[in-house]
Amino acid sequence: MRDIGREQMRELLSAPVFRQIGGAADELGVECFLVGGYVRDLFLERPSKDIDCVVVGSGIALAQALKAKMGRKAHLSVFRNFGTAQLTFPSSAGENGRQAVEFVGARRESYSRDSRKPIVEDGTLEDDLSRRDFTINALAVCLNHDRFGELVDLFEGLLDMEDGLIATPLDPDTTFSDDPLRMMRCVRFASQLRFRIEDETQEALVRNAERIKIISQERIIDELNKIVLSPRPSIGFVELSRAGLLPLIFPELAALEGVEVRNGRAHKDNFYHTLEVLDNVAQRSDDLYLRWAALLHDIGKPRSKRWEPQAGWTFKNHNYIGQKMVAPIFRRLKLPLDERLHYVEKLVGLHMRPIAIADEEVTDSAVRRLLFEAGEDIDDLMMLCEADITSKNAERKHRFLENFRLVREKLADLQARDNYRTWTNPITGEEIMQTFGIGPCRQIGDLKQAVKDAIWESRIPNTHEAARAYMLEKAGEMGLEPLTPTD
Ligand code: ATP
Ligand code: MG
Repeated sequence: MRDIGREQMRELLSAPVFRQIGGAADELGVECFLVGGYVRDLFLERPSKDIDCVVVGSGIALAQALKAKMGRKAHLSVFRNFGTAQLTFPSSAGENGRQAVEFVGARRESYSRDSRKPIVEDGTLEDDLSRRDFTINALAVCLNHDRFGELVDLFEGLLDMEDGLIATPLDPDTTFSDDPLRMMRCVRFASQLRFRIEDETQEALVRNAERIKIISQERIIDELNKIVLSPRPSIGFVELSRAGLLPLIFPELAALEGVEVRNGRAHKDNFYHTLEVLDNVAQRSDDLYLRWAALLHDIGKPRSKRWEPQAGWTFKNHNYIGQKMVAPIFRRLKLPLDERLHYVEKLVGLHMRPIAIADEEVTDSAVRRLLFEAGEDIDDLMMLCEADITSKNAERKHRFLENFRLVREKLADLQARDNYRTWTNPITGEEIMQTFGIGPCRQIGDLKQAVKDAIWESRIPNTHEAARAYMLEKAGEMGLEPLTPTD
């Protein structure tokens, strides 16, 4: 975290818009403060787009006054029901985008037990800052001319930021019970910022976890996705588990937790293994759905778990069982049900394949089959599978990674030689029917399969000529005679 004195704050707020806002507020005779995430991110040196301002008075009136000053380049949207107004204008940083400032009057809120919609009244700056979720989000910087750049820190937000702590300004039980979404935000900030949740705040999470049930799934998934996208998502999932929120919002993932021992044999804790894989993927990719695939890759393990006296713990077919669980999970969590779902299903279903290949001799045909099924997602699949090697046994890990290198080499080699991502059989059913004067029957499928196997196993080249010769030979073995002899 950086140390920002008043002078430095003035420099950080050198964009003309901040002085313009302060000037308009002075003319109206109201106090105006920059608040919330924008101020926090100045200290944490994080990029921040949306700017929030609190006005002790009418936020809408200040936004209208500013719009009048800025003229046509500024657009004003007023939301009377919420008492807020948003002003957008071309970004001063010279990028092509536009910047938005949101104005709201300082407010006091009171809550009833069964809704997160508060009764809102006009309030003081102190009222407004104390209803905010965390001390690090409750900092304000004055924009009026005489106090420009002055920091207001009523709840020791700066200290918490220095210590890397998430804590609520008021009693955490009240804060979380009033608006249980704040519990998700609490975990999300811990994960995004790599902050620790202060002890009393953490205990209040546990006590209030059940209240998450009054929050809509749309709001929950927004926060969950922010956790998945954070630099080390495991932090967020461990906190969700510690708070008791995980079984409520994502029972399938919570079911991965724990170790069972029988006859002195234990299986690994699949929750912590999954989080390790997710962190590994997160180090290499920002793709939200590749990260979801990592989170769900072993989701079928609890349902496939068996104790077999000889083999010990087994999780047979957990990839296929998991693949089938993806759609219901996406539907319930309100994740998209389009090609992004199919992508995750595919990766979950195929995630054992590269490892199975790497475990044995790496043959052409096995790699070709993999290429064919994974199609354009082969690189993502390989990344997921490498991330999945979390063995603590250095020798074992080394052997897998070495074999993986072989699979990758062979993949590159085959991709260069023939484009198996879009492979089609050179022999069609139509050609077989015409050649032998037969109608649709099982032999057609068998012949096509034989040709495909021969090409994929490199026994014949991938050409029509070779494929036809091979097909005729196989048909002869089946007792089929061509209508007219072919040469
Ligand atoms: P980010 O924009 O990175 O998600 P943020 O802290 O800016 O983080 P916003 O949702 O933009 O979050 O909210 C802006 C500010 O409004 C917060 O910093 C906080 O002060 C306040 N706030 C937002 N949501 C809540 C809430 N549910 N309860 C209390 N205060 C909130
Ligand atoms: Mg924000």
